[in-house]
Amino acid sequence: MPYSVSKLTDFSTRALDEAITDVRDALREEAVAVSDQTQFKVHRDRWLARKNGILTQIRDLWLKQAPPEARAEVGKRFNELKDQVENILQTQKMELELRAAEKVASKRIDTLAEWKSMALGPSVDITLPGIRRSLGAEHPVIRTMHEMIGVFRNLGYSVEEGPEIETDFYNFEALNFPPNHPARDTQDTLFIAGQESKPLRDRLLLRTHTSPVQIRTMQKMKPPVRVVCPGKVHRNDALDATHSPIFHQIEGLAVDTNITFCDLKGTLDHAMKAMFGSSVKTRFYPSFFPFTEPSADAQISCIFCDGKGARDGAPCRNCKASGWIELLGCGMVDPNVYGFVDYDATKVSGFAFGMGVERIAILKYGVDDIQLFFNGDVRFLEQLG
Ligand SMILES: [Zn+2]
Repeated sequence: MPYSVSKLTDFSTRALDEAITDVRDALREEAVAVSDQTQFKVHRDRWLARKNGILTQIRDLWLKQAPPEARAEVGKRFNELKDQVENILQTQKMELELRAAEKVASKRIDTLAEWKSMALGPSVDITLPGIRRSLGAEHPVIRTMHEMIGVFRNLGYSVEEGPEIETDFYNFEALNFPPNHPARDTQDTLFIAGQESKPLRDRLLLRTHTSPVQIRTMQKMKPPVRVVCPGKVHRNDALDATHSPIFHQIEGLAVDTNITFCDLKGTLDHAMKAMFGSSVKTRFYPSFFPFTEPSADAQISCIFCDGKGARDGAPCRNCKASGWIELLGCGMVDPNVYGFVDYDATKVSGFAFGMGVERIAILKYGVDDIQLFFNGDVRFLEQLG
């Protein structure tokens, strides 16, 4: 029997209490039968509709009919009841919306369960372990870079970084590669197109080495300077087992008063021992770089055959039986370079060195193809991770 509002004859507090309790009980009872949003709309209208809703009827039959002496009390009770009814209906509305949203969400879980049953067969074995999200690991190139940075940090070097898209000035000119100098040809450069209208020194290119960071550092810092500059560099090299158009370098620069070639040799010898083990020896060969004078290539004794040139009775392939592996370029900073950064070449001296990170990672991890570092095969990375 649905609730209907009847006239009040007794307006005493007790009678009002009873009547209001009946209203609230009726609302709760009817709410139980409401199970979706369509039903709720009907339910809400039955109670709140301005025309003939239950609250409107109560106002008409109780409040408007109340004798003058009871009207204030009935009015107060009516307003309380109205607030309660509205609150109860509002709460119910939110619950129904939440339930509807849960239904949508659980539909997706159903789909996942369907997928699982397809993958695992008709029944799911709940004793199977859960699906573990595998942890990432540092990429071997980045790890090698961090190890090398760590070695130089311990020597008091700080880390500097710079842009990968550089101007001709920073990549070449300030490093003592004059325009049209043949040394530029040793670094196959990728230029940004459409800049013919700019002066040569402002034209943009992908940096071919991290040396521009050394120039930028010296421009903003006065000596003493001790920095390492790690980063990605680009050259127009065809892809093969030892070449990649993208690779990483770590360069170092130390400028101070009275820095000599002995400091360079001692520093690099220490760094190579820290990286490859204390039994590693280093040696230096004359070389040429536009930005250092004198320049050298540094070699380390082969870590695969301990510098013997042979392994297991056969010539060592890693050092081509020479017992030495070429690892980096270095030299004393050419005084011309100081001219570009406003250092006094008569007062300061310094050394610089640079090495390819992939080359070191190849040696450290025994990788035989540089492309493995970049083609994103997770199996390769898992072996080294
Ligand atoms: Zn060897």
